[in-house]
Amino acid sequence: MKYIVLVLIGLFSFSLMGQSENITTQLFDSYDNYKESSIGKRRIKRADIQPLIDKYSNNKKFKVKKVGTSIGGKYLSLISIGTGEINVFLWSQMHGDEPTATQAIFDILNFFDSSDFKTEKDAILANLTVHFLPMLNPDGAELFQRRNLLGIDINRDALRLQSPESQTLKRVRDSLDADFGFNLHDQSTYYNAERTEKPATISYLAPAYNYEKDINETRGNAMKIIVFMNDILQKYAPGQVGRYNDDFEPRAFGDNIQKWGTSTILIESGGYAGDIEKQEIRKLNYTSILSAIYTIAKKSYEAISIDEYEKIPENDRKLFDLKITGATYNLMGNTYTIDLGINQVEVDYPDHNSFWYSSRVLDQGDLSTYYGYETVDASGYTIKQAKAYPTTLNTFEEVKALNFKNILKQGYGYVPMSTIPLKQVNSPFPVHLIGKKYTVPELNLMPGINPTFFLEKDGKIEYAIINGFLVNLKESIINVPNGMIYR
Ligand SMILES: [Zn+2]
Repeated sequence: MKYIVLVLIGLFSFSLMGQSENITTQLFDSYDNYKESSIGKRRIKRADIQPLIDKYSNNKKFKVKKVGTSIGGKYLSLISIGTGEINVFLWSQMHGDEPTATQAIFDILNFFDSSDFKTEKDAILANLTVHFLPMLNPDGAELFQRRNLLGIDINRDALRLQSPESQTLKRVRDSLDADFGFNLHDQSTYYNAERTEKPATISYLAPAYNYEKDINETRGNAMKIIVFMNDILQKYAPGQVGRYNDDFEPRAFGDNIQKWGTSTILIESGGYAGDIEKQEIRKLNYTSILSAIYTIAKKSYEAISIDEYEKIPENDRKLFDLKITGATYNLMGNTYTIDLGINQVEVDYPDHNSFWYSSRVLDQGDLSTYYGYETVDASGYTIKQAKAYPTTLNTFEEVKALNFKNILKQGYGYVPMSTIPLKQVNSPFPVHLIGKKYTVPELNLMPGINPTFFLEKDGKIEYAIINGFLVNLKESIINVPNGMIYR
């Protein structure tokens, strides 16, 4: 008898998982039909989403309400759909520079507005009411910064509630008494799945609601949904999922919303090789969040074991954009073996619509426990100082006419100019531009410096590192988005 029951349970859960897996595949494959194409890069602002919110205000399927105002006077809007008794509440971008899930929310809204997937949608909308609060920190988004205009981290204001944005989040949560909450963030691209070179493309947390990290039904359900979403991610980004440390943070919203009785799922969008604007990660958000909404509607998550949650690898922060290993470095007449960890650091233009790079050496020494999005084995190579080009040029046209590959091969990384326009903040070339009186300092590798040097083997320069970007001089492509200016 026991055996038969087990077989039946096995078949039952197999068919449930099979069914939802099938829908997930269809959601992933048909994504382009629903992608909101008007918001396709990370620096999006409140004004960019207003036309989309207006569209849903005029659409009878949705309810749109102004639920608050930011310190800077920007509206906070709640968009709801469905008639079910279970309330699911998703909020994004409480940190202004974390926009990936905001974009995914508008993709999900497009999905709900379409006439496709009728069976699944009917099941969702009959059982759930789904509420979206995109871009909780519009003032931060305007400046592409984490904090709001009060200069505080909204995610440390869940108790003191000094910010109107925090008050709004608490008020909406309380008024809905939401059963499930999705707390949507971006994390640094330098997180990896522990002891692997794989970036933590998505990290999850079912936040603790006390220091003891107890698991009650509320938190347990959040863990089950995370296990469900992790299974989906493993298919599309194998090994690229991390689990956040669950130490209790009494001031954070996730921890408190869990405590207030809403099963809270924290989702952090991290890095994915080559996906600078995080559009692949946006698609993974869309697919996994929508699948999670469906599993909540069907209650199929209930059969999942919370033991699986602990098996998701922990988040670590051991990635660099570029890792150089085993290079030979000459210092004061002696030679040393050194690894370098380099990050390509973004600097915003004043309008916060786009950015350039001012890269840094982050660490050096034995970095064998670290990883890189790009790695160069530099054993047998010697680090060489970059020199200034011997001729001073007068115009950008003259610089542009240089054969950059040839001058890099000759060890030149800096080009002197008679005048550099003051409004120019960086070099649009794969070399640095220097004023005619500027002297290139002697290379002294140290964390914090701009990574610019060459790798030489048997007297021949084979690689250039300019502003933290690697150029393989045996290949024809030079991928250095910009150099620096030293006046
Ligand atoms: Zn965040």
